[in-house]
Amino acid sequence: MFAMGSGENMITEEILKNRAEFEEKTRKLIGRPVLLIELDLFALPCGCSGITANMRGLEVDDLEVFEPQILQLVKEMAARFEIKPTVTFARLVPGSSIVASLNWRTLCMRCYPEFARSEGKMPRPDLYMLHFERRK
Ligand SMILES: [Zn+2]
Repeated sequence: MFAMGSGENMITEEILKNRAEFEEKTRKLIGRPVLLIELDLFALPCGCSGITANMRGLEVDDLEVFEPQILQLVKEMAARFEIKPTVTFARLVPGSSIVASLNWRTLCMRCYPEFARSEGKMPRPDLYMLHFERRK
């Protein structure tokens, strides 16, 4: 399917490249050694799919200050993997200001209403909403 002349695995190469770039751009933006320790593309049994970036060193404060810039980085990476996220959120370590992961997810018909109902920046103690694309 992927007729790349080099014979390399295109998807893993892309993931590795994007992991490094996202980490570097986040570091430059925040000015601290933030780590993207694992970048995952996922598919769920319900039909949701997306990307998870497991982070170390990122705080809720950073999201509040740099939200537009972080959202832009997220959008760029989603576009490279041809993912159109319905929802973009950060998963927090509950009861702390630590960001465990950034998540962008194309919601299935079943999960969409659950997210559409939630209100505010933090509908749950472990969720910080960055963006939600409402369906018409
Ligand atoms: Zn789903």
